Amino acid sequence: MNNKTFICTLFSSSYGNCTYIKNKGEEYLIDAGVSARALEHSLNDLGTSLANINAIFVTHEHSDHVKGLETISKNYKIPVFAPKPCCDEMGMNSVHIPLCLNRLESPGSVEFPETSFASFSTPHDALASCGYVVDLGEMKFGFATDMGYITKNAARELSSCKAVIIESNHDIDMLKNGPYPYRLKKRILSDYGHLSNSACADFLPYLVLNGTNSVVLAHLSVENNTPAVAYAESCNSLKSRGMTVCTGETPGDVCLSVAPKQGVCVLIDE
Ligand SMILES: [Zn+2]
Ligand SMILES: [Zn+2]
Repeated sequence: MNNKTFICTLFSSSYGNCTYIKNKGEEYLIDAGVSARALEHSLNDLGTSLANINAIFVTHEHSDHVKGLETISKNYKIPVFAPKPCCDEMGMNSVHIPLCLNRLESPGSVEFPETSFASFSTPHDALASCGYVVDLGEMKFGFATDMGYITKNAARELSSCKAVIIESNHDIDMLKNGPYPYRLKKRILSDYGHLSNSACADFLPYLVLNGTNSVVLAHLSVENNTPAVAYAESCNSLKSRGMTVCTGETPGDVCLSVAPKQGVCVLIDE
């Protein structure tokens, strides 16, 4: 894997999240919400390892985003960057994480030689929650999951990015008619819950108008969504506004993919 820039999701759902970023020899993760062992297997399949990761950027303290951090911090001592309130929470019951933690202001930024990360806050029922704009040199990549709605600021940040990983969590009807208890449904549908397929689909044309040409739909609910339903809603929204979506070898205004619960979904490979 000698690509200059390679970005993919490795895990994406409420069962665990992790996105891998390689940029000119530097390697990063956004979130580490699965076991260190599972993550190491996935990285090995890509031809790399946790030992090569320069830093881990955390979006918020929910376990589907930080589950592997204790073991990773113990065994690899990789610097972890997270919003300040999340650091306090994660540090409280952990022996090893505090030794690796770096507190991020909101918004905050961190620069490495080839790559820089800037956080922006997202509305979610966590102590603090953020998305990231990652400056890769020639282009920017945006990441935003776990947000009840798209704030004006998040829209502005993401619209500066050529490639975006964005939440498309649930189909509203599937959620409303599904098995979740009423309180959980209410939480997910709230402004501090998760982004629905339709909210995501409504937003995508704005991104494409502003130059985004690669999108991965992420953090799909296993119970209240399917990859086909999420893809169709976003695809139809783009097409209804006269935009074309890449299919196979046929180019279009935007390439659209859906991140599986587990497995590689490539956003950038160039
Ligand atoms: Zn989550
Ligand atoms: Zn969350």
